[in-house]
Amino acid sequence: MGRSIARKTEQSRKLQKRAEQFIPGGVNSPVRAFGSVGGDPVYIVRGGGSHIWDADGNEYVDYAGSWGPLILGHTAPTVVEAVIAAARKGTSFGASTPAEADLAELVISAFPHIEKVRFVSSGTEATMSAIRLARAYTKRKYIVKFEGCYHGHADALLVKAGSGVATLGIPGSAGVPEEFTQFTLALPYNDTDAIEKAFEKFKRQIACVIVEPVVGNMGCVPPARGYLEALRDITERDGSLLILDEVMTGFRLAFGGAQELYKIQPDLTTMGKIIGGGLPVGAYGGASKIMDLVAPLGPVYQAGTLSGNPLAMAAGFATLSYLREHKDVYAKLDKLAGEVVEGVAAAAKDAGVTMCHNRVGSMFTWFFAEGPVTNWTTAEKCDTKAFGRFFRAMLENGIYLPPSQFEAAFLGAAHTERDVQQTIAAAKQAFAGVQV
Ligand SMILES: *Cc1c(COP(=O)(O)O)cnc(C)c1O
Repeated sequence: MGRSIARKTEQSRKLQKRAEQFIPGGVNSPVRAFGSVGGDPVYIVRGGGSHIWDADGNEYVDYAGSWGPLILGHTAPTVVEAVIAAARKGTSFGASTPAEADLAELVISAFPHIEKVRFVSSGTEATMSAIRLARAYTKRKYIVKFEGCYHGHADALLVKAGSGVATLGIPGSAGVPEEFTQFTLALPYNDTDAIEKAFEKFKRQIACVIVEPVVGNMGCVPPARGYLEALRDITERDGSLLILDEVMTGFRLAFGGAQELYKIQPDLTTMGKIIGGGLPVGAYGGASKIMDLVAPLGPVYQAGTLSGNPLAMAAGFATLSYLREHKDVYAKLDKLAGEVVEGVAAAAKDAGVTMCHNRVGSMFTWFFAEGPVTNWTTAEKCDTKAFGRFFRAMLENGIYLPPSQFEAAFLGAAHTERDVQQTIAAAKQAFAGVQV
């Protein structure tokens, strides 16, 4: 399968061996170890536009985009120049800088329900803080999350669904005591009945519902028609807050995120990824009456040494400014992503490979299953071994996909028609070797 001349991997292999001596698994985030796809993790030394280069000199079309942030591609000149200019003035002060309100104003312009926004350094911090705030605002303890949605690695959010509907979640990681997840209800996604039942059973006790409005973290799974509206209605009726976790979808599906696309007004929005333009930024925002409960105005404590970091603010501001001034970029992304997704799907069909796909704008997943994939139960049925073979064959053919069946792929503004044609051609070769 793949090219006749095998891809060189010696340098990446050496670097991984070295890293393994000093870092658990050699990686600083587990999926980078390629555990679920097999093969050796690739060490990236350079990026430019839609392409990346590894330590052995191999070039790839990149569909991971740093897991979402790089909507403008690698080394976008506007972002690089903004970061360099900021660095020349000092990398961190631990005191306020003008750039923070600049980015805040820009973020607020994208999300009509947000009056105030607080910057943190990761999506994990954003969701953790938003939940603390929702509990303080409602003076309630329970939270609802959905199976297959990922909101970062805070204890109360690392939860697997218990058996049956509206049962308490169980810890999804060692080191999380049951007591820490006893107020987390884990429900199936896209199931209005389940959420109705949970709100009957825990009437006026649920502080918030947190959801990925379009899921990216079990692969791309869109909301069923009317589902987000149902979540909005049910939470509103009960006096519970709706948190849309737009860490992935914010500025990705539209400038105003999934809430613009689906016309849903949440109480709180969490952001990350694109908002930092490739540097570490997260954020949460909502109406002043909620946000003003955060310290120093209110009793909800939340802080960060590097929060609002000037380099990160500069990268975020440059990225969001570009997107605001080029809103036609979303139509372009939608078209090109449609081409690559449909093209690869057609190649699978021709080769007799069992595959289905989900796509919303520039976020998509090829699932090795009959489908349709609508929630975790259906996602779980995927042939992950077949995905692993597909992933490795694509890598051999110069295409870098996210190294897991259960992660969304992304297309950015730097991708070209040529990239798309190269990807479809690579898929044709890959399918010739993938026996499903
Ligand atoms: C990536 C992601 C997070 C976590 O963000 P980190 O910056 O990795 O901590 C939270 N929620 C969603 C929806 C994400 O995609």
